[in-house]
Amino acid sequence: MKNVVTIDEIREMELVSSDSFKEYIKLLASDLPSYFKENEGKKQECCPACDSPNYVDQFKKLGFQYRICENCGTLFVSHKPTDEALQDYYSNSQSCRFYYESFISKFEEGRSKKLFLKRCDWILDSVIECDASKNSYLDIRTKYPILFQSIAETNFFKKVSSYRPIFGDLKKAPGSNEVVESLKDIESSSISVISAFEFLDNIFTPDLFIKNIHRILSDKGLFFLTTRCISGFDMQVLWENSNSILPPEHINIFSIEGLIQFFEKNSFEIKELSTPGQLDLDIVANAMKQHPEIQVPKFIEYLIKNREESAYLSFKEFLQKNRLSSHTRIVVQKI
Ligand SMILES: [Zn+2]
Repeated sequence: MKNVVTIDEIREMELVSSDSFKEYIKLLASDLPSYFKENEGKKQECCPACDSPNYVDQFKKLGFQYRICENCGTLFVSHKPTDEALQDYYSNSQSCRFYYESFISKFEEGRSKKLFLKRCDWILDSVIECDASKNSYLDIRTKYPILFQSIAETNFFKKVSSYRPIFGDLKKAPGSNEVVESLKDIESSSISVISAFEFLDNIFTPDLFIKNIHRILSDKGLFFLTTRCISGFDMQVLWENSNSILPPEHINIFSIEGLIQFFEKNSFEIKELSTPGQLDLDIVANAMKQHPEIQVPKFIEYLIKNREESAYLSFKEFLQKNRLSSHTRIVVQKI
């Protein structure tokens, strides 16, 4: 499988000002206890990535217990909230509204726009490289309308559609696009290419989700994902202090080993698995500045405080080459 080292990253929390982020945490802390009762919902008996029943509790965050799989290192929450609680939270909570208004809507500006265009090229180039069909494209829970529009405007795919878009008016996108409300209603083997950006860590039933994706993809169809990865440098160093682990958005954070097992057991061939993240070291440096009480390994503290830009660049390259950044992108093909 391919490992691409490149500059392409859209990371929500790192692009927003710390004041906005502090406000978001405040709202989350006030919202979560009223929407989710501790240990309510279905208990997760095994790892969502590799199905191992062996896990060890790690830490609690905003009322959610996080545990780690002893087999593949994937991090997951102990209980899945009920659908009703989640629906209520997503429809009515202040923190959820703030999240979309303050963070997601800002992605259309400046730096993010360039990153979206690179992401568009990634999809189109990979389809050609893997010799996949260009008949139809489906984006899951579209939250970046500009990316969806960029893909539609290329006329690369005969038909583009979005499953339950989260944000923006997709009707502005040219071409024969449509909005789909239920994956179950999509005909089997009818979609050539599917994407899900920053989505895998949000879902409570990844197994059901990936089985549906496999069902609706056509023969040799491609599935593109971007997600956080718990094997990544900043997440391993910061662990429970990481701003990238926040319930109820981030509840299954797969490791690289977990991702490989997850896709292989669900009959996908991994065509690309890369961690092209650029921000891991900056995220740790930022966390150290904002929270001096956080303990990081001596070596990391020395590197950040005493070395220069050239050392940072070499270190980032090392993380990318060895799939050790936490920003992950994946292309898998149905087999
Ligand atoms: Zn596992």
